[in-house]
Amino acid sequence: MSTGSNGQSAGAGALLAILRDGRARTRGELAQLTGLSRSTVSQRLDGLVAERWVVAAEDPISSGGRPAAIFAFNEGARVVLAADLGATRARLAVLDLGMTVLAERAAELPVDRGPEPTLEWVATAFRELLAEGGRDLDHVCGAGVGLPGPVEHASGRPVNPPIMPGWDGFDVPGWLGARLGAPVLADNDVNIMALGEHWAAGPEVDHLIFIKIGTGIGCGIISGGRLHRGAQGAAGDVGHIRVPASEAPCRCGNTGCLEAVAGGASMAAQLRAAGVEAHGSRDVVALMRAGDLHATRLVRQAGREVGAVMASIVNFFNPSLIVLGGDVAEAGEQVLAGVRETIYSRSLPLATQHLGIRSSRLGGRAGVVGAAVMVVDHVLAPDAIDQAFEHH
Ligand SMILES: [Zn+2]
Repeated sequence: MSTGSNGQSAGAGALLAILRDGRARTRGELAQLTGLSRSTVSQRLDGLVAERWVVAAEDPISSGGRPAAIFAFNEGARVVLAADLGATRARLAVLDLGMTVLAERAAELPVDRGPEPTLEWVATAFRELLAEGGRDLDHVCGAGVGLPGPVEHASGRPVNPPIMPGWDGFDVPGWLGARLGAPVLADNDVNIMALGEHWAAGPEVDHLIFIKIGTGIGCGIISGGRLHRGAQGAAGDVGHIRVPASEAPCRCGNTGCLEAVAGGASMAAQLRAAGVEAHGSRDVVALMRAGDLHATRLVRQAGREVGAVMASIVNFFNPSLIVLGGDVAEAGEQVLAGVRETIYSRSLPLATQHLGIRSSRLGGRAGVVGAAVMVVDHVLAPDAIDQAFEHH
């Protein structure tokens, strides 16, 4: 955040960022931190209060003399709409600016029906959820959408998504934004989950890897506190890293990919080949929970295979936290144990000395929380707030 002490350039957006961080609460503290005069601080605060981004109160603990007014970021100023679309399931939520879920819905929604029917359903569900939460479209500052395929983040358009027929190049923000009357941002589902888990882990975690083990395998990378998308938005596609000694065919056309060995779809296929009914990651997890030895062995082995790939990534990237999510990873300790065992035995001691490896804190909500974080960071970016004030 650009909230340094270069006072001349500290606009209303910079003051709002400081109040969000909780680094200052009074006019005096804001003036000291930014180098602005108290009258300039007051003027900018008036604008922020008028727009409801900030609320003012009298400090209850100040004693003697005139009580100093304290200012705080208003988490209820606006709401954010968030949609986490998977291959066949969707989760939608309305959240406030502090990431509290006000209304929420999960439903079967196959994305292979194409973009317009899918997004029409999303737009309708958003309106219903707003009504449930006692809000309407006027309160919405933006919407975030996670999609189960590669997305060019700048335009929000999917790029050759393998499991989303009809979506290639579709203008998701344009189409949905026109129906909602608010800015819409889109990104890959694993990226938004990484944003959600980073928010849950707290700002002191700067280098985090979120790995999703579901039907497929992918990871989201937080580097220096920010999402690392890569040159073409393809960063984190660990599912197609080659696993030594495997010749298993992968949907990408190569053989021996991690996903072809340890993904839920490949485990289900291996079970079917052995005469067991299983069609996806959820069936594999259900079998494992029911005590099926074959499924349990496959899931354990998947944990070790993922761990072997992650061990290289730990040496290369030196994260402080690895978070495992997705329905296979959330099925129990089996996967986490396998990943831990392999990473600690194969990575360099310096890289693992302070490394945390744990399962998702947000579970099924990681995507909607992350989509909301993406929108709030965009809407409340100091430059965006300053520009909005210039146009008043
Ligand atoms: Zn592959």
